[in-house]
Amino acid sequence: MNSSTVSATLPEQTVDRLAESVTTVEEREALAVRSPFTDAVLGTVPACRPADVTAAVERARAAQSEWTDRPLEERASVLQAVADEILSNREELLDIVQLEAGKSRLDAHVEALDVVLTADYYAREGPDYLRSTQKSSGFPLVTKTVEHRDPVGVVGLIEPWNYPLTLAISDMLPALLAGNAAVLKPAEATPFTALRAVELLVEAGVPEDLVQVVTGDGETVGEPLVASVDYLTFTGSTETGRTVASLAGEHLIDASMELGGKNSAIVLPDADLSTTVRGLVHGSFANAGQLCISFERIFVHEDVYDDFLARFVAATEALELGAALDFGPDVGSLIADHQLETVESHVADARERGATVETGGQRREDVGPLFYEPTVLTDLPEDATAACEETFGPVVSVTPVADADEAVARANDTDYGLHGSVWTTDTEQGEAVARRIDAGSVSVNDAYLGMWASTDAPMGGVGDSGIGRRHGREGIQKYTESQTVATQRLHPLVPANLLPNRLAARGASLSVRALRRLRGLSSFR
Ligand code: NAD
Repeated sequence: MNSSTVSATLPEQTVDRLAESVTTVEEREALAVRSPFTDAVLGTVPACRPADVTAAVERARAAQSEWTDRPLEERASVLQAVADEILSNREELLDIVQLEAGKSRLDAHVEALDVVLTADYYAREGPDYLRSTQKSSGFPLVTKTVEHRDPVGVVGLIEPWNYPLTLAISDMLPALLAGNAAVLKPAEATPFTALRAVELLVEAGVPEDLVQVVTGDGETVGEPLVASVDYLTFTGSTETGRTVASLAGEHLIDASMELGGKNSAIVLPDADLSTTVRGLVHGSFANAGQLCISFERIFVHEDVYDDFLARFVAATEALELGAALDFGPDVGSLIADHQLETVESHVADARERGATVETGGQRREDVGPLFYEPTVLTDLPEDATAACEETFGPVVSVTPVADADEAVARANDTDYGLHGSVWTTDTEQGEAVARRIDAGSVSVNDAYLGMWASTDAPMGGVGDSGIGRRHGREGIQKYTESQTVATQRLHPLVPANLLPNRLAARGASLSVRALRRLRGLSSFR
């Protein structure tokens, strides 16, 4: 595990300009944003107060009606322009993401491309999901029924630090296309990425006030945000998700909750071990393991366990740790002290309970204050913390299993259900095993990128991993309210004048029976 370091920071005039764009009603205390690479202060942002949140929601709401009134195609063309802006400003964005989130450039690059793919997808397909559509009616020919899709109003987005560009912007784009305004609360650690990206949205044609950003502490800023928006997209830990979901319930707003995971990979005996190892090293240590869909548990068929483990450990040891603003290092830093402490405590607990640290298992302060070596554990007891709780760091356990049944049972032995993967040369068998994993998504012969980049398909978690989905039809219709307009073509469906209720009821029953027969749902008796 080699290393490299960086000393770069963000230009002062950029961070000052970005901090000024945060919505505040008066001067606020300054919150320092530090780079995980060096602990240097990158700049400060205001510690917003509830009054700032109220102002942000009001401003966004005021800007919304003009935006909603624009033709769908025009809003879609703004999304395409967003993709262009992201691509044209990619290098600057990657620097900000890397410096703020401490990740490798490759991991930052994936974020930029995700925004481009998502913007293009919704620009292309989104209008179809939003158009008014005629529905089949209970009484064909008699009733014309049309479903309309209206924007909910102001969408609040509360986002984590681990994918500060993707999660803030890709989840917002469908909301904007649907005609909503948005108020974004980025994580305390990564506000500058969100602020620069929102500037790019405006350069692409999003109206100036339509998207507001409020910065600061989760409780102080996040809770009033939930109380004043019309829909909430939350991405973060399961623990915070429970608090936020109950607040959303109190205010009777709909919400999607993208939460934590304890994801497993299953390696079947016929897997191609060289591609499997490459895929799973990436799938376990991308973003230094601070990725909701990365793997923290690998179950390997006992026939290939020794071979897999030897290759997996060797490939892990070949990863380069580093803090360079170039594509050299493979693995970046952890985000903050609390994350490092969690990782260290999970590994210490594993050691105490008799697990073997095959490689890694230590801090790398020589690379940066928050770096931790990619770590492979074996002999991890099932009740160890690292086996049960989300570590959200570069730690993965490898465990032999007798067969696919045991692998599936172990993979499903968790309250989480976000993502999984299956590795085999028999893709039919792989897909069958995938269907037995209790998770919102499963990749076969891939870690997660092919699944994530399939923007047409819904992505989200079951159980403690969340509620709702991003991507596809569900990822945009959640930002709308449906309205059904049913127009009678003949006369209203009420008992006809002068007809006794008993006869009217009999007539209605006969009509329903006839309809069921017509639809092949029952034989007429
Ligand atoms: P977190 O829950 O600590 O914070 C997430 C956001 O919530 C932050 O902006 C924070 O300020 C805010 N917040 C905190 N307390 C709040 C409160 N009381 N009310 C309103 N907002 C509040 O999570 P984190 O540490 O930033 O992110 C890591 C977690 O996110 C991991 O568990 C990871 O698995 C999960 N995650 C999930 C997905 C997904 O798509 N399922 C994606 C990325 C990260």
